[in-house]
Amino acid sequence: MAMSVRSPFVVVMGHVDVGKTLLLDKIRGTSVAYREPGMITQHIGMSLVPWPAVERFAGPLVDRLKLRGRIWVPGFLFIDTPGHAAFSNLRKRGGSVADLAVLVVDITSGLEDQGAESLKLIQSRGVPFVIAANKLDRIYGWRSVENRPFLFAVEEQEWHAVATLEERIGKLIDELSRFGIEADRYDRVRDFSRQVPIVPTSAVTGEGIADLLVVLAGVSQRFIPRERLQVADGPARGVVMEVKEEKGLGVVADAIIYDGRIRKGDVVVTAGLDGPREARVRMLVMPKPLEEMRDPEDRYMAVEEVRAAAGVRIVADGLEGVVAGAPIYAVWDPQAIPHVQKQIKEEIAEIKIESDREGVIVRADTFGTLESTILFLRQQGVPVRKADVGPPTHKDVVEAVLSRRRNPAFGVILAFNVKVPPDVEKEAASSGVKIIKGEILYRIFDEYIKWSHEVKTKTVEQILSQLTRPAKIQLLPGYVFRRSDPAIVGVKVLAGTLKPGVTLVKDGREVGRVMQIQKQGKPVNEAVAGDEVAISIQGDVIVGRQIKEGDVLYVYIPDEQARQWLFQYKQHLREDEIKALEEYLKARRRGSG
Ligand code: GDP
Repeated sequence: MAMSVRSPFVVVMGHVDVGKTLLLDKIRGTSVAYREPGMITQHIGMSLVPWPAVERFAGPLVDRLKLRGRIWVPGFLFIDTPGHAAFSNLRKRGGSVADLAVLVVDITSGLEDQGAESLKLIQSRGVPFVIAANKLDRIYGWRSVENRPFLFAVEEQEWHAVATLEERIGKLIDELSRFGIEADRYDRVRDFSRQVPIVPTSAVTGEGIADLLVVLAGVSQRFIPRERLQVADGPARGVVMEVKEEKGLGVVADAIIYDGRIRKGDVVVTAGLDGPREARVRMLVMPKPLEEMRDPEDRYMAVEEVRAAAGVRIVADGLEGVVAGAPIYAVWDPQAIPHVQKQIKEEIAEIKIESDREGVIVRADTFGTLESTILFLRQQGVPVRKADVGPPTHKDVVEAVLSRRRNPAFGVILAFNVKVPPDVEKEAASSGVKIIKGEILYRIFDEYIKWSHEVKTKTVEQILSQLTRPAKIQLLPGYVFRRSDPAIVGVKVLAGTLKPGVTLVKDGREVGRVMQIQKQGKPVNEAVAGDEVAISIQGDVIVGRQIKEGDVLYVYIPDEQARQWLFQYKQHLREDEIKALEEYLKARRRGSG
């Protein structure tokens, strides 16, 4: 089969407001201004930046870095939608369709929450990346020249502007090192296989855009295996980015084709919530070349065939219910359809989780977000019992209840980007199942961690409230108020905590139950080491017979509880309580031995 090399897919990630959208606009603008006339640079959902356009735009930098004639990637396909959801939906079995990522950070504020989350996502999918340290023009005293390469710009600044820049970059490097990432300003990177390049950019002035594109080319050639970019001439392989209703067309799927070809009339196999779907392509839609795009209403054209790499709108009957992040494969040989269906079925089964182990319940809106949510939770050490696409159901609530029986911190449904039906919400509330929902993964996760700590604390508190606390007391001479029925005596708590209801023992033998504790004439709920109190003892006990003034008594603790104290909850006992417990156990052993 004939092979050719395609452009790598590049995805832009980062915290909100760091300039992702503006940076993409600037890159697109550059590509439009410097492209060959007639060249199609717009795809569905992405934009092509041809390498020759970069060479024209960034000529002096390309020469300075001695890259002219040495770049074999044909260009870059930038995914138009920046951010987490798009990146997640670029999923492919065992990795990502994205070949490269640009992590954009605001140079004046560093990584930030969603930046950190993006970073973890990129790492979890094993995608090579570069960092754009954006808003370079905001560096105090920086003098900008439109579209100038950073490498030239930095040489013409006042020393204090460069110093400020260096300080910011230094901070960023420190921050990244906390994620186990070694990074440096791109022109100082010695070993690209160890260090992530940082490219200062400004999406407003265009400074550093040339550097970013050139560094992306370098990183592509070094870190994307050439085989990965080789496309065959066979049936298309792609991934669904978005499914939507389009006026006059019905339900369409915007897909990214990373290998092969798709033709009008082809059968495609993809996946919905309930398994594989088959559809016949009625129409393939691409944006018109710029020159022909006169009326903004009339931006699209139908094409007969699309080759990888491409972003294309697929119009076909039977795409209702197809889920973003699903694979989409063209099938040319009708006999191969069952085989491809089986492949897709297996692939979907790999994303979902259905088990009876202990863990949380996860719901997400697409296969892509589901997979990245699971990956993220796994990295954080949170087990998942069940994970599926779509809104939470009654069955999920039941599953959460079952999971909670083993561990109260798993009685929870994490709902990412999905609406929770009101009746499910109600049922969850009445069965005490927590639902945590949201559009930002780390926020859901943080809330879960907070909640699970609360649950754990509450559970421990509940268990502790049912355990008898150890205590050692002594009958004070001269303080016998009543000899029996009940006996009322003055005691000193020598160690531990004495509470009403406990049983007292002397030399391993039961004495009676403490009914009330009074301190200075008032009933109290407990007495601690050092307290002198009066207690009433119910039982077959007469002071002077079974117990005498000056006697030392212990609180009776069942063996099972003693074990729990020692092996599970020792940290919840005070030093003097531990001492009382140990003495009590020693006395017991002597008594029974
Ligand atoms: P996104 O949320 O990451 O897509 O960020 P946007 O591209 O929407 O940008 C957020 C804000 O930052 C907008 O007001 C932009 O004009 C501004 N902005 C983006 N890039 C730059 C930059 O390089 N320099 C300056 N000064 N402002 C920028």
